[in-house]
Amino acid sequence: MTDRQQRHQKAMQKLKSHVDDKVAAATEQRGQLLVFTGNGKGKTTAAWGTVTRALGYGYRVGVIQFIKGLWECGERERLIADPNLDVHIMATGFTWETQNRDSDTAACLEVWREAERLLADPEVYLVVLDEITYMLKFGYLDIETVRHAIANRPPEQSVIVTGRNAHRELLEMADTVTEMQETRHAFNAGLQARRGIDY
Ligand code: ATP
Ligand code: MG
Repeated sequence: MTDRQQRHQKAMQKLKSHVDDKVAAATEQRGQLLVFTGNGKGKTTAAWGTVTRALGYGYRVGVIQFIKGLWECGERERLIADPNLDVHIMATGFTWETQNRDSDTAACLEVWREAERLLADPEVYLVVLDEITYMLKFGYLDIETVRHAIANRPPEQSVIVTGRNAHRELLEMADTVTEMQETRHAFNAGLQARRGIDY
């Protein structure tokens, strides 16, 4: 073995023992709260990726889409035929277009009732609250209501929250927080949102 090969093997052994230690230290099994936030692209796609993962094992999954109701969504089109997937979309769609506080609040509360039902159902393995951070920011939903529903969910159920500017309380509760960092986005160079890539 050359010096270089030996150095590599040593480094890999060290890495393996480090990973083994971490695996041995992780002993708890329960549902998790994950928050995908930040300004960079990838929050909603990561959530749908996890939905696909859970459906792949035959688990039941609920997705609530706040805000983007009227938008197309390729993942939803692909997965909706799965009887284990339950999707609820906020009725008024894109808030920045409607800008009617009363009807948006009513639509938000209506779809939130579906979220509460899913968050209370032990048969549901994963619940995605896509773009819910804006509902809290606009005051359509209050943080105490959301915190309570998430905190009291069945112990085996996981929840994914997506959206920019996640509420501090959600960040504190979360088991995993991923902040998507925008290094660059095509939109800022004048590129239009692209079907199958952006939605
Ligand atoms: P995606 O749905 O692609 O995973 P996202 O959920 O992280 O993106 P949102 O803030 O929900 O991002 O934005 C929704 C739409 O805006 C998507 O079409 C996405 O491609 C686009 N987008 C995401 N990040 C940015 C950005 N930094 N600048 C401009 N547009 C963005
Ligand atoms: Mg999104």
